[in-house]
Amino acid sequence: MRIVVHGGAGRIREARHAACRAGCERAARAGWRVLTAGGSALDAAEAAVRLLEDDPEFNAGTGAVLRADGRVQLDAAIMDGGDLRFGGVAAVEGIRNPVSLARRVLEDGRHALLAGPDATSFAEAAGIPRCDPAALVVDRERTRWNDRYGTVGCVALDRDGRLAAATSTGGQFGALAGRVGDSSLPGCGTYADAHAGVSCTGPGEAIMRTVLARDVAARIAGGDMAGGAARAALTLLRERTGQDAGLIAIGRDGGIASAFTTPHMPMARIGADGHLVVGLD
Ligand code: ASP
Repeated sequence: MRIVVHGGAGRIREARHAACRAGCERAARAGWRVLTAGGSALDAAEAAVRLLEDDPEFNAGTGAVLRADGRVQLDAAIMDGGDLRFGGVAAVEGIRNPVSLARRVLEDGRHALLAGPDATSFAEAAGIPRCDPAALVVDRERTRWNDRYGTVGCVALDRDGRLAAATSTGGQFGALAGRVGDSSLPGCGTYADAHAGVSCTGPGEAIMRTVLARDVAARIAGGDMAGGAARAALTLLRERTGQDAGLIAIGRDGGIASAFTTPHMPMARIGADGHLVVGLD
């Protein structure tokens, strides 16, 4: 069993470092509890990302950035590497935990991705309560710190050897309403298969154009170690697009990677021995 979470690639003010580390640690421990109780990688990834969505430090769920028109719109996805089931939601409003809505899309199985107000209607039908969109806006975002990214993600490997990945974000500050980033798109910000699970963070447009998560998974399937695959994919992203990003990955052999070319990316991971490692730079 393994778990790794991230709290978004970017430049983070020093005053926020401790809170970001603590939030990642809490999420990794929550996912780990699910795994050690015999839960699936999918359950663990969902549980970890839900905690990060509820933590106002991060740009996901409560605390998400505002769009150009002042609204909060959320993207999230979750993928089961065992059977390639995928669920994603894009540009949804008034949903406190979009990763759980993405999970419902996955379990429903008819579609891989639902977007906009109709995705919110699906939430109602699936029994996921709507919240007041204003409830997700925190004071910090009203006054906006320029140094934030803060997308969240998790990759988990369960005791049956199944991998899962999940990612959740408010997207980019000031983006046009209706903009969809990489996080909710299979192979871009989120991917899991029999060989690897990957969750990415950074400029979504660049990540989409290089299909970053799938690139990492394909490198691992081809024999690369998780760390080497992550670094090579981020180098290619920079060469091709001039952009910096970050990602977490777990390979089927249990190798865990957290790599970024930005100044910071809060992360926490727990390895086979139960040992926790928390990092930020
Ligand atoms: N990748 C996210 C997006 O473009 C943002 C981020 O990870 O910071 O929506």
